[in-house]
Amino acid sequence: MTTGFAALPPDPAFRLRNARIPRCLTDAAALAADRDGFALVDIAIADGLIGSVLPAGTEAPDDAASLDLDGGIVLPRLVDIHVHLDKGHIWPRRRNPDGSFMGALNSVMADREANWSARDVRTRMEFGLRSAFAHGTGAIRTHIDSLGKQIGISWPVLAELRAEWADRIALQATPLFGIQFALDAAHVSEVAAAVRRHGDGIFGCVSYMIPELDAALDIVFRTAIDNGFDLDFHVDETNDPTARSLEHIADAARRHRFQGRILCGHCCSLALQEPQDEARIIAKVKEAGIAVVSLPMCNMYLQDRQPGRTPRWRGVTAMHELAAAGVPVMIASDNTRDPFYAYGDLDLIEVLREGTRILQLDHAGPDWCCGVARAPAAIMGLGQAGLLAPGGPAGLILTRARDWTELFARPQSDRTVLVGGRAIDRTLPDYRELDHLMSPNA
Ligand SMILES: [Zn+2]
Repeated sequence: MTTGFAALPPDPAFRLRNARIPRCLTDAAALAADRDGFALVDIAIADGLIGSVLPAGTEAPDDAASLDLDGGIVLPRLVDIHVHLDKGHIWPRRRNPDGSFMGALNSVMADREANWSARDVRTRMEFGLRSAFAHGTGAIRTHIDSLGKQIGISWPVLAELRAEWADRIALQATPLFGIQFALDAAHVSEVAAAVRRHGDGIFGCVSYMIPELDAALDIVFRTAIDNGFDLDFHVDETNDPTARSLEHIADAARRHRFQGRILCGHCCSLALQEPQDEARIIAKVKEAGIAVVSLPMCNMYLQDRQPGRTPRWRGVTAMHELAAAGVPVMIASDNTRDPFYAYGDLDLIEVLREGTRILQLDHAGPDWCCGVARAPAAIMGLGQAGLLAPGGPAGLILTRARDWTELFARPQSDRTVLVGGRAIDRTLPDYRELDHLMSPNA
């Protein structure tokens, strides 16, 4: 046991008593919820699985094999559906010169050309996985930069790491390249082959306004249909209201009668549309069955940044309006210590805390925590991940906080993480482990 709950029973079968769980994260029998959406329960754990989730006190406590959490919040291990493990932690050798989006794009491109060997990518990706695991993340979808020689370098590394981490983190990947490269048939077929060989049946690219956008989207959708792929796009990561590629994606999905899952990330400019345009686009997104993930910390960092001028908007998409229309919505980490975001540690408690503040998810109902748990798990096709379900894995985050304000007021550094019913070592990797990769000309 590392922190928090030093008295956790060592037995393979035990009971967590008086745990406070978000009712939206369990399908267990009818549970009464408090005004914050929490239910007070006892969780029985046996052989690494959740045996039962019952109202607290339903069964007489057995002190020898139980731990009283005294009302502390328990969450399932969380699900991070949009990250960039392959870009992570390059900041010391490749800063963003001015904090802008173009500064990020150009810096990453230069670093990729100069430094992204298999050893470099693997070391940094593994560092990210170790951090996420220690924070209590159970599943990750990462984007993989997929241009030129990088395709042959990064995808085999991803496949190795997925296998090595299979009992700790469910790892998925989706390709990342600018939409104009979809017009290059050789490029598309090379990336599709990499996804078939090393991937998880997910295809996609970065979507923005180009003159040939619809033709390029047709190629992306046809590639997905021909291969049985789901789709995952970066979309309109800009404050330019004329950026409406989200609407073009929704139109393409309907044009192709696409049956797979579609996830669109960012969609920043949706929030800057005139009301009638926003309503029309959201209606199309809903009809096309598209889910939307917001990346609030990265958006806040990059969007509306101009030298000498205080930012006027938060950079995030129209989350409340999307949710009200019935579009599945979620939030995720995005970048970590790279030119797109100088900070971040793949800690979904931090993402939920910051997302709540940036998107004002408080005062909007208690179920937003689904956005880092069961909502992304459903899009990733991960059965019982992100849920506290009888019969599901006993992958849990235990905290001392008893409500949302106690949870979000502190960083929860003393949380306990259970994997397979056992507490893990939550020691975070030391940045010094990456120093050998960080010399400016490495
Ligand atoms: Zn991203």
